[in-house]
Amino acid sequence: MPAYRGRFAPSPTGPLHLGSLVAALASWLDAKAHRGAWLIRIEDLDQARCKKGVDQFILKQLSDCGLQSDEPVQWQSKRTHFYEAVLNKLLDDKLVYPCYCSRSQILELLQQNGSITPKNTSAVYPGTCRQLEANTDNFTTKPLRPLPAWRFKSSNHALQWSDRRLGEHSQNVGKEVGDFILKRADGVWAYQFCVVVDDAQQRITHIVRGGDLADNTPRQIQLQRALMLSEPKYLHTPVVLGADQQKLSKQNGATPAQTERPLECLNIAAQFLGLRPAPATTLLYEALSQWTAQWAEIYS
Ligand code: GLU
Repeated sequence: MPAYRGRFAPSPTGPLHLGSLVAALASWLDAKAHRGAWLIRIEDLDQARCKKGVDQFILKQLSDCGLQSDEPVQWQSKRTHFYEAVLNKLLDDKLVYPCYCSRSQILELLQQNGSITPKNTSAVYPGTCRQLEANTDNFTTKPLRPLPAWRFKSSNHALQWSDRRLGEHSQNVGKEVGDFILKRADGVWAYQFCVVVDDAQQRITHIVRGGDLADNTPRQIQLQRALMLSEPKYLHTPVVLGADQQKLSKQNGATPAQTERPLECLNIAAQFLGLRPAPATTLLYEALSQWTAQWAEIYS
């Protein structure tokens, strides 16, 4: 087994809230329980959503809590040449295609063919441009938007995957999600794609992150398989809900974690992970030994 390498990958769209601190702490505990490396990667590709200075604020929040990257912090915005190279490889392998559909065209088509209704609004891309690509004449003469989005050809097979906490799962990405975007028409790289490229380049062996991202995992595994990358192990932590029963979200202005009182904050995050409260001074030490007993023995 390669040496354990884990990571925490926040988007700087707002300060860390309790939910993101739970994911940070869990990924740190899991890395340390396996005597592994823990890396921080700032996922700042969607500049319209990222807020200036928030990356540094998040790094300060983490270091106030004693959570420091074992290697230099990476920023995705400085790595776009890697994404370009990998997209070109997928293009050579004919696994991606350009898509000129606008969102409203897609929705209109889905409404027309009854795929979305007021009750079922989950929009699976109907494959319009994939079909046009198969017919080159149509493809070259159809009305074009100035720049296409790039979509990955999802496979229509049930993909099995396993989560260390949630157990076995299966998803037919082709049917349930459709061909998904790797690069948007406005030039913004998609999370699904860059997370796979970066996790592979950083040789991440274990991904521990919030349960709200569990649904994305089959798409990422499809990409790993298409690129013949090794597949990390996954553990998705419980999702922290706000008083309104909605997931806390940086973008929606969830209350920042009060990391100026790090021990209090970490104790709340640790308890959320099912770890027993510990006196402030021995908190990380106690959390680590409990985490090790609960999660590490099977995988070390
Ligand atoms: N950047 C993502 C977020 O802040 C997390 C990505 C991941 O851990 O895979 O929600």
